[in-house]
Amino acid sequence: MEFHTRTLLEEERPTPILLDADVGRSDELLRSCGWCKKFLVGDEWVEVEEAVQRLRLFQRRRLPSITHGICDGCYEKMNEVAARA
Ligand SMILES: [Zn+2]
Repeated sequence: MEFHTRTLLEEERPTPILLDADVGRSDELLRSCGWCKKFLVGDEWVEVEEAVQRLRLFQRRRLPSITHGICDGCYEKMNEVAARA
């Protein structure tokens, strides 16, 4: 299986606190999609800025650790690509 990627859009975004490598982390795990970088909050995949708001991460002293997975949207796209190959 071979995957090709190309950039469709680039936009400047301030580094969200959730992605700051210098911040203390708790044992809580937050799942991030390795492809589109969305985060799983409850049962919904959302952009990083939305995840920070929903989880009220600005109010926490330590942020959750980040683990990687694949979101439903990217999983479906992968399956479509794999089915065509
Ligand atoms: Zn994804």
